[in-house]
Amino acid sequence: MCKTYVLSVPAAKAPFEKTIIERRALRPYDVSIAIKFSGICHSDIHSAHGDWAGGIFPMVPGHEITGIVTEVGEKVSKFAVGDRVGVGCYVDSCGECEYCFRGEEQYCSKGHVATYNSLDYDGNPTYGGYSQKIVVTERFVVHIPDPMELDVASPLLCAGITTYSPLKRWNAGPGKRVAILGMGGLGHVAIQFARAMGAEVTVLSRAGDKKQEALGFGADEYFSTLDPDTFKKLAGRFDLILNTVSAAIEVDLYLSLLRVDGTLVNVGAPAEPSQYQVFSIIMSRRSIAGSLVGGLPETQEMLDFAAEHGIVPQIEVIRADQVDEAYDRILRSDVRYRFVIDISTL
Ligand code: NAP
Ligand code: ZN
Repeated sequence: MCKTYVLSVPAAKAPFEKTIIERRALRPYDVSIAIKFSGICHSDIHSAHGDWAGGIFPMVPGHEITGIVTEVGEKVSKFAVGDRVGVGCYVDSCGECEYCFRGEEQYCSKGHVATYNSLDYDGNPTYGGYSQKIVVTERFVVHIPDPMELDVASPLLCAGITTYSPLKRWNAGPGKRVAILGMGGLGHVAIQFARAMGAEVTVLSRAGDKKQEALGFGADEYFSTLDPDTFKKLAGRFDLILNTVSAAIEVDLYLSLLRVDGTLVNVGAPAEPSQYQVFSIIMSRRSIAGSLVGGLPETQEMLDFAAEHGIVPQIEVIRADQVDEAYDRILRSDVRYRFVIDISTL
């Protein structure tokens, strides 16, 4: 066992406190990581605020983790001390079901173990990346490609893979018109991935002042969702809409922007239920889908793709004592575009 400092919340919506937890003793396949940076995902806020059912408190959020390997178990073969590594949204899965077998551990039949706010298979709560150290079995650790700095790499461990995976699955590429709905942490990297895959990219966002930045990330066009004309102009236009909005949307309105056979893929995860008219999908054979993060092999593939195509999250690095303020700012959509905690300040 080893003690480590963390930022934890004792109860839903409570402020963060610096506390100490114990990480498990190294098992044969474990990697011990000195965490350098931890991104703040909107899911951290949903979890720490108890928006979703089943919050386990005290909670240490954080699933956009980058750091350096400090120790490896005797059977570890993929990593050595000194390696630059990342850990994303989960830290274990059964490893035997059909989904694990094909590298989609997030859909594990036994239920994956999330990086925090989850119970490990041995029954202990998991604690995430707002922490100086973490111990993770090597199957859930990825290499950060050499040219990439650890601070900008950290948002890719969730925001990156959560958008890369559905864009790839729904064939964003040449000849496809893709809309990215919501331009926050997920949205701003989704624009870059969709562009690099060769799609025609449109950003749909409330804030008029994000237009120049959207074009800078590679979007072809930008439309404000606060302007009713947007929905008239873009009716029947997109093959794919990737919804990254953290609040409930008017589903019928966005379905009307899809072509025949178009798909609305939800990755944004508000607690409120969604509603839609069946005629919005029947009349143009449209689909509504969802997607959860991405598997481990695909996460490594996404990092390599990002390095190759120069995809870089735009981040604001903050100190550990600024996390409460950062949560408030994210809730006001006052972030360009991801806060990343410098763990050396913890
Ligand atoms: P974020 O940085 O806060 O961005 C969310 C964006 O949604 C905002 O920038 C804003 O974009 C838009 N938005 C926020 N409130 C809105 C409202 N009331 N009405 C309309 N638009 C609104 O959050 P994030 O970290 O990108 O996460 C986005 C969502 O994805 C969260 O719900 C998160 O839990 C979820 N998520 C899901 C997965 C998954 O596996 N499916 C993984 C990670 C995160 P504009 O200012 O451009 O309008
Ligand atoms: Zn996340």
